[in-house]
Amino acid sequence: MKLSNFEDSIEDVILERGLDYFQNGRVENVIETTDGYTVEINGSDYYTVEIYLGHEDQVVDSFCDCPYDWGPHCKHIAAALFAIREKELKPKKSNKKNAARNIAELFNFAWTVKRLMLIIVAS
Ligand SMILES: [Zn+2]
Repeated sequence: MKLSNFEDSIEDVILERGLDYFQNGRVENVIETTDGYTVEINGSDYYTVEIYLGHEDQVVDSFCDCPYDWGPHCKHIAAALFAIREKELKPKKSNKKNAARNIAELFNFAWTVKRLMLIIVAS
C-alpha cells in the first residue's frame, strides 16, 4: 500500500478508530528514522508503531507493539499513517512557499540595488 491511499488497504472500522485517535491528539510523537517513522501513540496504553517507507511513499512494512492480532493493521498503525501523511504533505508545501518568498526577496534586493545605482549615476 502507499501512504497516499493507505485507506484502500485497511479495514474501515480500523481506519475510523485510527482517524479518531489522530484527531484527538493521541499521536504524541512522529519521529523520522532512516527508513521511515517511529510513532508514539497514547491509547489505552502507550504503543510504539514503526512504519517503513520505500520508494514513492510505498509503505513497505508496519509494526505495532499492541496486543491486537485480528488483522495485519491495528488502529495505532492507521493513526500513525494519518499523522505521517499529514507530516509528509505539509513541509513540502511550505518549502515551496519559502522558496517563492526567497526568490521574491532576491528580486526586491536586486531592484533596490538597481535604483540605488540609478540615483548614484543621476547625481
Ligand atoms: Zn496497535
